[in-house]
Amino acid sequence: MALTGLQIYKLLPQTNCKECGFPTCLAFAMKLAAKQAELKACPYVSEASKQQLEAASQPPIRLITLSTDGRKAVAGNEIVLFRHEKTFYNPAPIFVRVKDTDADVAAKAKEMNAFSVDYVGIKLQLNGVAIENASGDANKFAAAVEAVRGASDFPLILIAKDPAAFEAAMAKAKGAVPLLYAADASNWQKLVEVAKKFKAPLAVKGDGLEATANLADQVKAAGVEDIVLDPGARDFLGTLTLATQIRRLAVKKNFRPLGYPVITFPGEGVASPDEEPVLAAQQIGKYAGFIVLDHFTPARAYALLVLRQNIYTDPQKPIQVKPGLYEINAPKPESPILVTTNFSITYFSVSNEVEGAGLPAWLLVADAEGMSVLTAWAAGKFDADRIAKAVKTTNVESKVSRKRVVLPGAVSVLLGEVEEALPGWQIDVGPREAVDLPAYMKIKP
Ligand code: SF4
Repeated sequence: MALTGLQIYKLLPQTNCKECGFPTCLAFAMKLAAKQAELKACPYVSEASKQQLEAASQPPIRLITLSTDGRKAVAGNEIVLFRHEKTFYNPAPIFVRVKDTDADVAAKAKEMNAFSVDYVGIKLQLNGVAIENASGDANKFAAAVEAVRGASDFPLILIAKDPAAFEAAMAKAKGAVPLLYAADASNWQKLVEVAKKFKAPLAVKGDGLEATANLADQVKAAGVEDIVLDPGARDFLGTLTLATQIRRLAVKKNFRPLGYPVITFPGEGVASPDEEPVLAAQQIGKYAGFIVLDHFTPARAYALLVLRQNIYTDPQKPIQVKPGLYEINAPKPESPILVTTNFSITYFSVSNEVEGAGLPAWLLVADAEGMSVLTAWAAGKFDADRIAKAVKTTNVESKVSRKRVVLPGAVSVLLGEVEEALPGWQIDVGPREAVDLPAYMKIKP
């Protein structure tokens, strides 16, 4: 966990020699805490202090990366408990489990790999396949891994107990860096050797917090740095409690043995496949690192991916589309020019309504710094000047036969100012809601 300026100050020489370029050690400490200075600027920091300061600069939850053919599934590096404190950084990768006893692992992997949805201009996809050695046969396990690798470029989680099964599977993993799941009290020494040999992250499975932390400590002491935690719980209450305690201990107490992403298996904690997405949704919010589903359907996956996208969107950086002129349904010169802002959800609300109604239009997207219409207007980011600028920079005038723009109804107050800013143009006020645009356009084409 990051140290405060005062905590850093206590580790500095406190001689105020000014060689770092700051008038006092305290001023330098404050800059270090704000990450506006580098420790090496002070030549007098002791080795012990250096180590403490460097350790404190490590993220409280280690970043774990699984990779295949350049595609990655990344978890960790989170620094807050609640998104509103700053943001969440690495959306929990969602995997789907197949078993080496399944007849059609390649077809399943192919279907999941092809699944992709467009959500407000963002491509949402699943992140990987977990392959389980349900047969207990190392050769069957290796064959399943080979089949999945042949059918998809998904990162992998390999689930087995026997070190020989992992060895056989890794021979067919063709350069992938999978997560090996999982070392427990009975086999961790052997699995540590496999993880070290293949430089792969290793999951540790304990029964509760203490056992999991102890196991993680043992695995780390044996030489594996990249660790994922499974504290054992599967149900709603258990996973919520343990994942919250782990995140709190890692982020607030800097408790290193639990400073790793958590893996969850929501399908094992529910009575029916229909409940799996509900538990997975809880775990996306609090605080899964990797999620392994047992069932894939496009509808369930879509709901989880959208939820995850929303939770992991930085609240301080609204998702935006590029300002400019967009064509909907092949507009003609006489088609209307509809004005909106470049907040993604606003843009897609308007464009989807007009496109869905089959009506041709020019959609003029003004740069409102990614805010929705009313928010941008209230913040002074969507006004007559910006609308006039959008009209001029896109040169929409050269594409139309009627100099007419339609303002969003929510900012009818801008009518007079836009008329002044765009002399010679007809300015109309459209409906307040995007859903009412098709009806409006039929009355006033
Ligand atoms: Fe303090 Fe080091 Fe800066 Fe000197 S160089 S003022 S000892 S922080």
